Amino acid sequence: MPFSDFHGNSETVHRIREMLARERFPQGVILSGPAGSGKYTLATMVARAMNCLERPTADGLPDFCGKCSNCVRIGQAEDLSPLCAQAVEARDALKETEKKETRLFIQTHPDVLVIPPDPPQMMIKVDQVRHVIETIYFRPSDGRERVFIFTDSAFMKEAANSLLKVLEEPPDFATIFLLAENAGELLPTIRSRSMVLQLKALSLDETEKYLAKHRPEWTPQQRALVSQLSQGAVGRARNFDLTAYSAARNDALTILKTALRSGEHSELFKTTETYRAGADGRSKTELLLTCLYSLLQDLMFLDSGSPDLVRNTDLRPELQKLAQSASFDWLVTASDRLSEVERGMRRNLLRSLSLDAFEAALERN
Ligand SMILES: [Zn+2]
Repeated sequence: MPFSDFHGNSETVHRIREMLARERFPQGVILSGPAGSGKYTLATMVARAMNCLERPTADGLPDFCGKCSNCVRIGQAEDLSPLCAQAVEARDALKETEKKETRLFIQTHPDVLVIPPDPPQMMIKVDQVRHVIETIYFRPSDGRERVFIFTDSAFMKEAANSLLKVLEEPPDFATIFLLAENAGELLPTIRSRSMVLQLKALSLDETEKYLAKHRPEWTPQQRALVSQLSQGAVGRARNFDLTAYSAARNDALTILKTALRSGEHSELFKTTETYRAGADGRSKTELLLTCLYSLLQDLMFLDSGSPDLVRNTDLRPELQKLAQSASFDWLVTASDRLSEVERGMRRNLLRSLSLDAFEAALERN
């Protein structure tokens, strides 16, 4: 899995590899970019290039083999969310007193430490940074460079201040990556001690090419749809659950159609009925709301004469038909009502109740 497998942002990747070639890699690096733009993937690639035992080059610049024991072990941390879920589960199984003292870390190689935000607050906590301070001065054991990857820019205040201390005097053999959707979320004093590298979202065309390689089982039409919906975030695009999305979107479409042509209630109740209970009820309902928003937005684009902005491209003819019976005012009210449903969900009101209320409110409208 060498650098050529990283999609998009080729200038930034080139710059990183040049710094690797000069063996003057900055010790504090902020990788900023939208969710899914590949910040974490790129950071683990750099960690592999720094520690690869084969040290291959490609186009005259450092690369990594992906096969040596260092590359393989570092690569095991690439799929982060299941590892985090496991770590959280392991902590939940501990005794109350131990639980309080245990912080989240992901480590698949002795020289590479991944520091994810710690639940339930989902922030980087001071104990996590302390652990980095306590261990950063140990020399690398199996590789050449020690790499620390903070995967989120949400730091508790004390944690941010401690991080500042490490960034003031890191050892020569250590590199700290700070991943951020927006570098501005980090303290100015942290930013001034780091090099900021920006990753951009991919273009539609680039995302489709990426999907052609990684999701060959999807039709070109499906790839085009997912590219639209993931807005240049390749990570999100690649892991997109097309089946769940299609099912939720069908239901969202039924709800909107019913609201627009009142009188066909049997179909509607069949739809909202399935959102009543079950353990996966919440995420299922959230996906339904996402789909409702996305369809309402597309209807607004059509209504305001901007059909090029429609994201559910495969539904265009159907949406055009719907747009004819939905006035702009209706769409605005529908979006307002939908945010009321969302607020209700956050306050844990009965899910089905608020969905039905949404429907009723639309009809009155
Ligand atoms: Zn290697």
